Amino acid sequence: MPTPFEHAMHQLARAASLASFSQDFLERVAHPNRQIRVSIPVKMDDGSLKVYEGYRVQFNNARGPYKGGIRYHQETDIEEVKALAFWMALKCAVVNIPMGGGKGGVNVDPKGLSKRELEALSRGWMRALVDVVGPQKDVPAPDVNTTPEIMAWMADEFGKATGDTSGAVITGKPLEAGGSEGRGTATAQGGFYVFEALRERLGLPASCRVAIHGFGNAGEHAADIWSKAGRKVVAVSDSKACVRNDDGLDVVALARHKKATGSVGGFVGATTLAPEEVLYVPCDLLIPAALENQIRADNVARIQAKAILELANGPTTPEADDALFARGVPVVPDILANSGGVTVSTFEWEQNLKGEHWSEADVFEKLKAIMVREADGIFVRAQSLQSDLRRAAFVVALERIESAMV
Ligand code: GLU
Repeated sequence: MPTPFEHAMHQLARAASLASFSQDFLERVAHPNRQIRVSIPVKMDDGSLKVYEGYRVQFNNARGPYKGGIRYHQETDIEEVKALAFWMALKCAVVNIPMGGGKGGVNVDPKGLSKRELEALSRGWMRALVDVVGPQKDVPAPDVNTTPEIMAWMADEFGKATGDTSGAVITGKPLEAGGSEGRGTATAQGGFYVFEALRERLGLPASCRVAIHGFGNAGEHAADIWSKAGRKVVAVSDSKACVRNDDGLDVVALARHKKATGSVGGFVGATTLAPEEVLYVPCDLLIPAALENQIRADNVARIQAKAILELANGPTTPEADDALFARGVPVVPDILANSGGVTVSTFEWEQNLKGEHWSEADVFEKLKAIMVREADGIFVRAQSLQSDLRRAAFVVALERIESAMV
């Protein structure tokens, strides 16, 4: 299995072959500006000291401060964070926001920590990296397993160390700590705007049946948004189980069940299956909303969806991409489909810098305009390049980064 960074470099090479970028630019854009690895000591509740490894990769800042989330996961490492940072640079360029690409992480299973330990770890991450982040340098945000509360602890720690209490150093904060309206649902909401803008051109019916892989921030909100829009959510999974009901799941009751039991599995009114089965149920739209490398050469033939919208980062390997393209199954790529999150993050940063607070209606109106405009542009570009949407999105993003670097 290629690493996520190899996977990203493969995507880069394939997209680059469709346009005339300079060799120097392609060489430069494939290398991160800076990769930082830190030790974060945490005093555990039992009195022992544990040292965690934390990361920040600052990939490219040609278009603005580095921007991207911080992931807490037991399998994350600097290679994965590097790939995610590269994708962030492209993602910010796709939506044309004045940000570069970065990403952070800690190798930890946060589910095994008490709240006090989690706070100590999060404050420790910020203390270790306080010199390299900042509103005009590098602006982190949430990612897998990191929450608004964690962002608030980090913002507070940055304020104590630097005196800058504007909050603009980090986004995805709770509303009471300078967060933006709409940030919590922005990734899924942005994906929905992109999907609606492209739905007819992708050949999907209005009464589209949806399967969602992952029930974290992106997946749970996607289930809610698609079902509120009158679409049937026929299957949902988390790391432990998949639940399927071809007549449509009651996603509000499902979210309650997950909160009470810790998993979607065993939900009344649905059949419980193994988690990966969600990828193979008959549906119109499959939404991967968990981790990388889920749709691969070895399982792509089993996918029955008519289209895929990537709310996760890097869920489809290049081989699976080719197989789907050959079968005529469109894939709306991560750097477009999930860019609503970083777009509203950038609105939050802007509000913090100006001391403003925008209404939710304002936030979503601005978000929709950006998502629809960029989705249209990428669709048209894919047609003129005769390529899939991913390569078109890469070409558009790379052109914007190249002109900023020149
Ligand atoms: N972690 C999210 C992403 O992968 C959001 C990043 C941000 O808001 O900066 O796009």
